[in-house]
Amino acid sequence: MRLSSYYSPTLREAPADADLVSSKLLIRGGFVRKVAAGIFVYLPLGLRVLKKVEQIVREEMNSIGCIEVLMPIMQPAEMWHASGRWDDYGPDMMKLRDRHERDFALGPTHEEIITTTLKNELNSYRQLPLALFQITTKFRDEIRPRFGLMRAREFLMKDAYSFHADYKCFKKAYDSFYAAYSMIMQRIGLRYIVVEADTGAIGGSESHEFNVIASSGEEKLLFCNCGYAASDEKAEYSYVLPDTEDSELPIEKVMTPNARTIEQVARFLNVDNSKIVKSLLYKGRDSQLIVLIRGDQELNEAKLRAAMGDQTLTLVPPEEVSKHLGVEAGFVGPVGLPDEFQLIGDLSVKNIGNVVVGAMERDMHYINAREGRDFTIKRWEDLKIVRRGDPCPKCGQALQETRGIELGHIFNLGTKYSESMGALFNSEEGGMKPFIMGCYGWGISRTISAVVEQLHDKDGIIWPRSVAPFEILILPLLKHGSDGFAFAEELYYTLLKEGYEVLIDDRDASPGVRFKDADLIGIPLRITIGRSFSQKMVELKLRDGSADLTVDISNGTEMLLETIKELLDAYKPAEIGREEA
Ligand SMILES: [Zn+2]
Repeated sequence: MRLSSYYSPTLREAPADADLVSSKLLIRGGFVRKVAAGIFVYLPLGLRVLKKVEQIVREEMNSIGCIEVLMPIMQPAEMWHASGRWDDYGPDMMKLRDRHERDFALGPTHEEIITTTLKNELNSYRQLPLALFQITTKFRDEIRPRFGLMRAREFLMKDAYSFHADYKCFKKAYDSFYAAYSMIMQRIGLRYIVVEADTGAIGGSESHEFNVIASSGEEKLLFCNCGYAASDEKAEYSYVLPDTEDSELPIEKVMTPNARTIEQVARFLNVDNSKIVKSLLYKGRDSQLIVLIRGDQELNEAKLRAAMGDQTLTLVPPEEVSKHLGVEAGFVGPVGLPDEFQLIGDLSVKNIGNVVVGAMERDMHYINAREGRDFTIKRWEDLKIVRRGDPCPKCGQALQETRGIELGHIFNLGTKYSESMGALFNSEEGGMKPFIMGCYGWGISRTISAVVEQLHDKDGIIWPRSVAPFEILILPLLKHGSDGFAFAEELYYTLLKEGYEVLIDDRDASPGVRFKDADLIGIPLRITIGRSFSQKMVELKLRDGSADLTVDISNGTEMLLETIKELLDAYKPAEIGREEA
């Protein structure tokens, strides 16, 4: 491709609303343009990268016998009613109505469509197992789309679904997806970590997340030397029941004027945050509950939703609390609470005595409250956010923490969808059974951002060869019509013939502008034909700085071609500037 007639507009400055390094570089480099919040156009260079990611993912799916299909983006509401997710999915699902007043959703995911499509035709154990995938646009109406392609509303995703007669067969597929996903990470050339993850709105019983390690990542990941690794939504810890404190003091109501937050109460009463118990009001599908957790801990909502089996559970906003409880947020507590509120206790509250709790009265708290005496918790759960330093659930060592960008996620759906949607098959033993299903997602467009987050420097992007828009950039600095320029042109055609993807910067722009653009766009190998051409020398430079050399072409281009091949074959930018986990 000739840059003079290509379309790749570069910018010196990123737009003010570009938040992450990857958003800035992808816009400045002319890869994407934002149309609206979370909605992007892929310009030619960006589309080339996207297609490469897509192809790697497609090949790895094919290699494990997963077969490609294509499902619609617009999906009828009935299918979502059948699975119960029309209401459960929440406001991320973009709903719309057609001219006949029929409800539809823009697919945020495709379990409903695939199950409905297959349920009457895939009906014998003889047809199993089956695994299908698609690469298509999804739409999730994020409340705050941000981080460029990372948290977009419209995005490209690979999703796969597998159907099995029994768990053993499912597990085999799950393991092969696990291996294929690891292979995708390795082929792209990314440093990654696989963690146990929460199943969230997708449901099911077990799942793993494939994360690219990046300090800017949204996912907080906990891991241990023993091999345990989990997302912070899922992470567990090894719980030890503390001894009950001896001195049992009588409960007492005290004034705490305007002290609403844990910090304010702690300061006012001069106690540690760990001696205060937070009471949080949650509202779900058809329940209201109060969750108690120690003041120095944070509640993990994913764990709460999973424990209660209700994905709709949300914290009641402070301004609405008094409507439900007759007291303002900040003074809610478990003592003397009406019966219709279920009390759920985080393990951190177990066996601690003499604690401060809200007194269900404005500006009042109880001190020296005690569970079992002043209030009773019937249900205990591990609901806290596990942090760096908490003991590993497998071996007890202190957990470590890193950040990641989630690219892949694999789920054991069990019979959740097949049961709710009546997708059954004739089993070998006779009788109808629901399928055991797995689902497997990979964020294609998000992968681009993740690569850039991990691989860049102050001057621009450092594409690995696997997904680079082009492999080689030829930069002729000599005048059009000169011998040097003619050589560059000739080399361009030679390299194309050799099968390389080559871009030649034959623009009239100054060398400074063209060098800057070359670094910004980040093509792996730059071949510069400049002043040293008069001594029959050509400069080769790898974008990550691992090689910068000149090759003598006075006896022809054989050595040059050999060096180009060697350099590109060995190019592994992910190993440069390793970000320690
Ligand atoms: Zn461990």
